[in-house]
Amino acid sequence: MSAQPVPPLTAPSTVDALVVGAGFAGLYLVHRLRGQGLKVRAIEAGSDVGGTWYWNRYPGARCDVESMEYSYSFSPELEQEWQWTERYAAQPEIQRYLRHVSERFDLRREITFDTKVTQAIYDAGANRWRVQTDRGEQIEATWLVMATGCLSVPKLPEIEGCERFAGASYHSGHWPHEPVDFSGKTVGVIGTGSTSIQLIPKVAEQAARVLVFQRTPNFSLPSRNAPMDPQEQQRIKQNYREMRTQQRRSPTGVSSYPIPTRSALEVSPEEREQMLEAGWARGGTGLGRTFNDVVRDPAANEVVADFVRRKIHAKVTNPEVAEALTPRDHYIATKRICVDTDYYETYNRPNVTLVDLRRDPLVSIEPQGVRTRDQLHPVDVLVYATGFDAMTGAMLAVDIRNGAGRSLRDTWADGPKTYLGLAVAGFPNLFMVTGPGSPSVLSNMVVSIEQHVDWISDCIGWMRTHGKQRIEARTDAQEHWVTHVNEVADATLFAKANSWYTGANVPGKPRVFMPYLGGVAAYGEKCAAVAQGGYTGFVLDAAAG
Ligand code: FAD
Ligand code: NAP
Repeated sequence: MSAQPVPPLTAPSTVDALVVGAGFAGLYLVHRLRGQGLKVRAIEAGSDVGGTWYWNRYPGARCDVESMEYSYSFSPELEQEWQWTERYAAQPEIQRYLRHVSERFDLRREITFDTKVTQAIYDAGANRWRVQTDRGEQIEATWLVMATGCLSVPKLPEIEGCERFAGASYHSGHWPHEPVDFSGKTVGVIGTGSTSIQLIPKVAEQAARVLVFQRTPNFSLPSRNAPMDPQEQQRIKQNYREMRTQQRRSPTGVSSYPIPTRSALEVSPEEREQMLEAGWARGGTGLGRTFNDVVRDPAANEVVADFVRRKIHAKVTNPEVAEALTPRDHYIATKRICVDTDYYETYNRPNVTLVDLRRDPLVSIEPQGVRTRDQLHPVDVLVYATGFDAMTGAMLAVDIRNGAGRSLRDTWADGPKTYLGLAVAGFPNLFMVTGPGSPSVLSNMVVSIEQHVDWISDCIGWMRTHGKQRIEARTDAQEHWVTHVNEVADATLFAKANSWYTGANVPGKPRVFMPYLGGVAAYGEKCAAVAQGGYTGFVLDAAAG
């Protein structure tokens, strides 16, 4: 993205709050801020609302938090009228839901689509953000809220020759709107993260052949997805308020996961096995929360990892393929655990071949296919499911500068530092939704998004009623928070994994464990205490400048 501003074609438009992004976060921000009487605008790069669910249209895309939980809580009427059709909603349904929200609450009139924010410069004298778009528009706003998403910047792999490939190629995070027809084709899939694990079984049903290029195997758990049971849906709807309270009081924002109370090492091998079998049968990521020390104690972790490894070997008929699919290089649950429908079973199909890049490394992409050290693998279509420049990518794609002209890129050159994942010292009146330093990607994100949007909206409302115009995180409060985030992470096994949580998937990105591991409930209490204390850790000014 160019850092050079395009000259404005029109006079700057002025709003109270500018929201960047129109996914779950941006939509709710528009609703809340406009409801408080603010003049609001949202700018969205896509042609419609949905964010993640607008861009990630690959076959098999669906949530892995149950639909009834992966939904807004702010409107009891919305909760009651929307009918989910599956236990885990697929991408088209989630996007329909978000479109419905945008229409039901009349949010679209504040959103400008097909437009990217390229630059935002804070004018200290005027106490305003001057924002530039790629369409040459300038917008001035008192409040700038980045609802740009944690997983919204697709990352292409650093493989030589990608541009030479003669067939069609797609990144999962930028999937075409028209269905891709794989019939009769040989399809190469690069990557074996959550995305591929959903996509491969679907592509294998249609394509003549699928070649999966795997560098690192991941742990995947069965989803047990099923049509939504109408009675169960009704039961939850009758108890929605209680469920929402439980979500906010839980570590992960998911009410249906039991809060583990026992160590994996304190129960007998027979009981452990029964507990793990129950989690496996229930489906979803809850299995990783069977014991309270899975992400703290290597021995406890091994109990769960060993269980899943045995399941992989039981599912995949070829023992060599099973072993290649079995993760042995990281602790289970320290990289995003995957959830699938028939992923491992797909390798029993005659038209699916696993290419183990640890044994035969990927060298280049050629016009005809993928070259590994030992051979050329001809393919007609290439799918890159190679992930995202996560958590900081979208923020840093915008040239954000403070009143002293210092850029956020320079400020975060050694890794992101934030106060509560909401604000950055030196950057007044700038908020982030689910920024680094908040539970974000380690939680049910809709719960975390609503908590952030509520906190930001309440803060802006409080400032207005108290005659304050400028809020900025204090450097000492930020340092204290960053230390706390690191201490909590260092007490776990998370930081040991080469995951996108640490930026390890992007060459040159500073290695910092970005999300906050203290849990949704504890984090929510800390944010509430900051607000109740009159925004402790922030400097608040009545006057601009
Ligand atoms: P996004 O949905 O990412 O929206 C951000 C929007 O900002 C995008 O539309 C983007 O175009 C726009 N934008 C970014 N930069 C700019 C700019 N400079 N100018 C203009 N517009 C910009 N989370 C869960 O909790 N459970 C799940 O099951 C789950 N499944 C997922 C499945 C996939 C395939 C992926 C990729 C993520 C998944 N997530 C899941 C995480 C998901 O990203 C969040 O749950 C949620 O949708 C994020 O909403 P958001 O509004 O914060 O960000
Ligand atoms: P990802 O987890 O980052 O996986 C990317 C994959 O691409 C990895 O297997 C990686 O291998 C591989 N890769 C990258 N560069 C490569 C190269 N040069 N050569 C070979 N392989 C390469 O990305 P993702 O699968 O898109 O998932 C990202 C996140 O989105 C998830 O963790 C999750 O939070 C969310 N998501 C959720 C769901 C869901 O179930 N609801 C579905 C999809 C996505 P290495 O591991 O070796 O780097």
